[in-house]
Formats: sequence, structure tokens, C-alpha cells
Amino acid sequence: MSVLSLTCPALHRGPNQILPALALDFAPGGMIGVTGPNGSGKSTLLRAIAGLGPETVGLRQNGQPLAREAVSLLPQNFTIRSSLSVLDCVLLGQRKRLGLRVPPALITEARALLDGLGLADLADRPMNRLSGGQQQRVLIAQRLFAKPRLLLLDEPTSALDLHHQLAALSLLQTHARRSGTVVIAALHDLTLAARFCDRLLVLGDGRICADGPAEDALAPATVEACWNIRPEYLKDRDNRLVVIPHLPA
Ligand code: ADP
Ligand code: MG
Repeated sequence: MSVLSLTCPALHRGPNQILPALALDFAPGGMIGVTGPNGSGKSTLLRAIAGLGPETVGLRQNGQPLAREAVSLLPQNFTIRSSLSVLDCVLLGQRKRLGLRVPPALITEARALLDGLGLADLADRPMNRLSGGQQQRVLIAQRLFAKPRLLLLDEPTSALDLHHQLAALSLLQTHARRSGTVVIAALHDLTLAARFCDRLLVLGDGRICADGPAEDALAPATVEACWNIRPEYLKDRDNRLVVIPHLPA
């Protein structure tokens, strides 16, 4: 498996340029965090990469253009009114492989993903009778089940409690490493981003302010300038970065 290359023209929305043109390479199996304050362009960038914007974004791997079906996006805002069961919702992730009868192996695979996200007991529950956090976890399972080469997640932990934030990001990280899928997730929590991502893109001031491992990308000058906070840095028991935000004096 080889590097996934992205070329993106400048992104304009309304009268403004949101981000300049970008060319980025992603190692296979990488977990990349996109972070930055409100309105810095995280969703605009992820949606453009997924082909949902007016721009043409180039994606290549192994010297070939990446097929549209190989890219999957979990959007920031979702409301599910469908009464489809949780298991069926996950199975829809591979709707092209589903015939009149769903192969048992696919059902086993979907159930394993539900189990990994703590949803095994809810497999037969209608989607519209789940909490927002439960729905978000089902949608993560559905996107993983689809086995994209590039998985884009816009604030995938926004509705999740502390346990499920850790479980979901850990599952995504393991999936990326095992399958070679490139996972790019917009995240607000800098400590979580530092803990699970190999690389962080920090957006702010209409550009990518930093791109690298958390220890470099979350340098005090970057964090202060982008978020208008004073960061305090600690190390957790595994020597990973913890960022505590304080309001400026
Ligand atoms: P983030 O996800 O980082 O919070 P967004 O990508 O949603 O930020 O938005 C980036 C900027 O683009 C914001 O200033 C937002 O108001 C603006 N924007 C987003 N979509 C549109 C649109 N369709 N028309 C005009 N402005 C937009
Ligand atoms: Mg957003």
C-alpha cells in the first residue's frame, strides 16, 4: 500500500477564501486529526475532500486516482428519523455487496463492529429510538463496515460520553493500522487528538498553521494564536501530551 496524495484548490465559500490550495500526502494506516477553532474550515475541507463541494479535489494512491466509492465521510450534523434497525443501518455501508440475501459472513462482520462500539445489545433497535450518541456510534460502525481507503469523520466524538470517545477513537486507530485506511478526523479536544492521532493539521487564520505530530503541531505559539487561550501542558501516565486550556489573562 502506498501514500495517498491529495491536491485541493483554494476553497471559497460565500465571499471568502476559507483555505488556500493544498497538496498533502498521507501515509497508509495513518490517523490524522484536523483541529482549529470554530469557523476555521475543518468541515469545509473534509466535505471538499469527500467531493461534496464545488471544487475538484484530486486523490491518488498507487499512481491511480482513488475511486469515489473508496472515500467515505461521516458528516458533522446528522439526524436520523429512519426506523431501520441498527444492524441493517450498518449493513447498508456495503449496499453494493448486498444481494437479496445478506451473506452470513457480512452479518458476523457487522455484529463484530457493533460489539466493538458497545452496541451489540441494540442491534435490533430502530435507529430513530436511539440517543444521539448511540446513533453517532452506529454511523461510525457503518462507515468502518464500508471499508473505504480514506475515511473522513467530522467531529465523530461530539455526542459521545468519555468511555465511548476513547473506545471509538481506539477502534478507528486500530482499524487504520490494520487495514491501511487513512483516517482523517476533525476533533476539538486537543488532548484526545494528541493521544490518538499520528499527525495533526491545525487550521486557523485562513490556512494550515501547523502540520505534524502533536508535540510540534500544538506548540504554545500555535495554540495561543489559533484559539486565543493560554495552554498548560502536562504528560499523562503514558507520556502523552495533555493540553489544559486557560482563558488569556
Ligand atoms: P469549522 O468546521 O472549522 O467550524 P466550517 O468549515 O464549517 O468551519 O466553516 C468555515 C467558514 O466558512 C466559516 O466562516 C463559515 O461561516 C463559512 N462557510 C461555510 N459554509 C459556507 C457557505 N455555504 N456559505 C458561506 N460561508 C460558509
Ligand atoms: Mg465543522
